[in-house]
Amino acid sequence: MFNSLTALPADPILGLLTQYREDTHPQKIDLGVGVYKDPAGHTPILDCVKIAEQRRFETEDTKVYIGPTGSAQFNQLMSVLAFGKTHPALLADRVRTVSTPGGTGALRVAADFIKRCHPDAVLWVSDPTWANHTGLFEAAGITVKTYPYYDYDNKSLKFDQMMQQLQQVNKDDVVLLHACCHNPSGMDLTPAQWDEVIEVTVKQGFTPLIDMAYQGFGDGLDEDAYGVREMAKAVENMILCSSCSKNFGLYRERIGACTILGSDSAQANTAFSVLLYVVRCIYSMPPAHGAAIVETILADDTLNQQWQQELAVMRDRINGNRTMLVNELHKLGVDRDFSFIAQQKGMFSFLGVSSEQVMTLKHDHSIYMVDSSRISIAGISSANVEYLAHCIAKVIK
Ligand code: PMP
Repeated sequence: MFNSLTALPADPILGLLTQYREDTHPQKIDLGVGVYKDPAGHTPILDCVKIAEQRRFETEDTKVYIGPTGSAQFNQLMSVLAFGKTHPALLADRVRTVSTPGGTGALRVAADFIKRCHPDAVLWVSDPTWANHTGLFEAAGITVKTYPYYDYDNKSLKFDQMMQQLQQVNKDDVVLLHACCHNPSGMDLTPAQWDEVIEVTVKQGFTPLIDMAYQGFGDGLDEDAYGVREMAKAVENMILCSSCSKNFGLYRERIGACTILGSDSAQANTAFSVLLYVVRCIYSMPPAHGAAIVETILADDTLNQQWQQELAVMRDRINGNRTMLVNELHKLGVDRDFSFIAQQKGMFSFLGVSSEQVMTLKHDHSIYMVDSSRISIAGISSANVEYLAHCIAKVIK
């Protein structure tokens, strides 16, 4: 049976990581993988996570099935984190959440859920978007199309073109928006642009699906949720996919959430029954450990404060790295304007160099990034920024 298969290419980012690990250059730099790293290049476990895990270890008394919704407390705390305690949608009991295996699990649940709402729905994603979005939704049988988003030449948003496209989107379709820290461009909508997107969403009547994989990594927990919160005030239906991989550093625990917004409590209940059926048909029930850590942190005032401080350290480091690289390039007298890197948000930016230059950076200087020149900002540090800027300057000359 397997004879009918042809091999598929491996994930390019993982291939890059293998090459990086095998490289013996003392100044090698990994700007490929999108995980947070400390100045020593290590992805740490947050202290608040360690404390929560210890507590969990001492108090956990069963490993019995958790059910398709996952932990009710986690779900409730995650919706408060996303929407804010007093959001009208929460007060009106229109919000339902399931715990999912990571943000990816949330997106896959959303995909199958959309298929059940409207089998012919088209999913519109930004051009470009996170590489996995297209595959995930196509795997659920959904047609994926793109709306203009990032202007590679001007390092800006193609906002007018994006709006023109959204004005054509059908009411049974779904538009995927990144809540913050757009992956891969780092280019976010401003609050005023969100307001315009919300207006066209309401006018056209399509359903927004917001992917929030980096809440707290851009400007702050509340600031990063502006679009989510305002959208949920304006529309009848919405889907939100959240991830705890980045902001809690729980990458390998696989914990996230899929949240749906009904037009009222009764519709939310009906939709939720379908969401649970979808979950049962994919993985039956989510893993419990990551959710237990997150709910322990969010429910405890002291731990919550500690988490917010640790999150701020990660955010400040990423934003600091952006400025540091731009300053270093400036110091070297590089003509080209790289200031856009300091203005963008989150884990990624496109450096804006050609794929040949990406190859030269890799082969001649042991600096690793994906072909599109998307760089993972967390891979920069005060120890390597000088070498990095020097090599970039040399390659673009
Ligand atoms: N959405 C976006 C935009 C992402 O960048 C990622 C992670 N790279 C995810 C979703 C998935 O996150 P997780 O690791 O929690 O599955």
